[in-house]
Amino acid sequence: MAQRAYLDWNATAPLRPQARAAVVAALEMVGNPSSVHAEGRRARHLIEDAREKVARLTGAEAAGVTFTSGATEANALALHPALEIAGARVPRDRLLVSAIEHVSVLKGGRFPADAIEVIPVTESGFVDCEALRRLLRQSARPLVSVMLANNETGVVQPIRDIAAIVHETDGLLHVDAVQGPGRIGVNLSALGADMMSLSAHKIGGPKGVGALVRRPGLHIAVPMIAAGGQERGLRGGTENVPGIAGFGAAAEAVQQSFAEEVALLGALRERLEAGLRAAAPEVVIFGSAAERLPNMVCFSAPGMKAETAVIAFDLDGIAVSAGAACSSGRVQPSHVLAAMGVPPALAQGAVRVSLGATSTPAEIDQFLAAWKKLSKSLVKERTGLAA
Ligand code: PMP
Repeated sequence: MAQRAYLDWNATAPLRPQARAAVVAALEMVGNPSSVHAEGRRARHLIEDAREKVARLTGAEAAGVTFTSGATEANALALHPALEIAGARVPRDRLLVSAIEHVSVLKGGRFPADAIEVIPVTESGFVDCEALRRLLRQSARPLVSVMLANNETGVVQPIRDIAAIVHETDGLLHVDAVQGPGRIGVNLSALGADMMSLSAHKIGGPKGVGALVRRPGLHIAVPMIAAGGQERGLRGGTENVPGIAGFGAAAEAVQQSFAEEVALLGALRERLEAGLRAAAPEVVIFGSAAERLPNMVCFSAPGMKAETAVIAFDLDGIAVSAGAACSSGRVQPSHVLAAMGVPPALAQGAVRVSLGATSTPAEIDQFLAAWKKLSKSLVKERTGLAA
């Protein structure tokens, strides 16, 4: 039996050892972070230490970091019309979201459905800035949400430019930066963003914890859960101390090994793409005309069916994902590729391979050996020969 090769890091990353140690240590602690005794204060310290680590990763102030159950919830927390700046209400009349957002943003968070508008993207997968300008002119005080890097294609948005366009108006910018840490910069003020969502499990932390990071002075007037006052009143309920501690440790680790990991990922991705093309020159790599995350490739080939390919790879010991969303038994082409104008016949074959800190050349070679077999069978099918 071949060893398993886990090449689906954009779906979730393996737990980093530092995060595991932090989770285990926190599980052994008894205190409730809201208690005033020494045990409680120790649990509180773990949370505040993690908050500082996430703040350091994003160049934010610790007070601007709110822990949530993940990025889905961080997006829902951010996407609400009732925003305040320096204590003054600056309610949002419209939410503008790019067409390639994660579903948790596309659905508009806590905005009414009729206040949500979609910003189209170009064939390369970039937000259409002219369309954004037009939509901004039609709104008085919009909130704009554009992701830093797309989870399916890896296309990186020019967030600095988008922020400049949004801030020429009375707009505010939220960025879903879930796929960024460890791959590209996620400094809130360098990006020019007002708010940013993160998820622990994409960076080697535990699942079920994330954060919304806000610039100083920006506040959300309506809590996610109005209850016991935790997370400065934004999210009631006893905190997920082990999860938060693990998130903090992962944030610190990802920041410390950034340069080293990006170099490793770049070299592995080059090997992967060269091998994909060598076995099947007809392969199409999505977003190849754009800046992309260094850790991944999303590709298809004529005649390829993503679900069949994912099963074939899985049988060969390789975990990758289909770039198509499967709902109620029907495989639909990805909304991201559709927004980029990719023909459905090609989009239905889209497969995503994503790498991370402990990926190896041997895993890439294992994948490429499986790809050689698969691409040969596709050629046989296309030319009418028995596979
Ligand atoms: N945004 C993006 C871009 C994602 O890739 C994901 C996870 N697939 C999320 C948001 C949701 O994150 P979580 O799993 O923490 O809810």
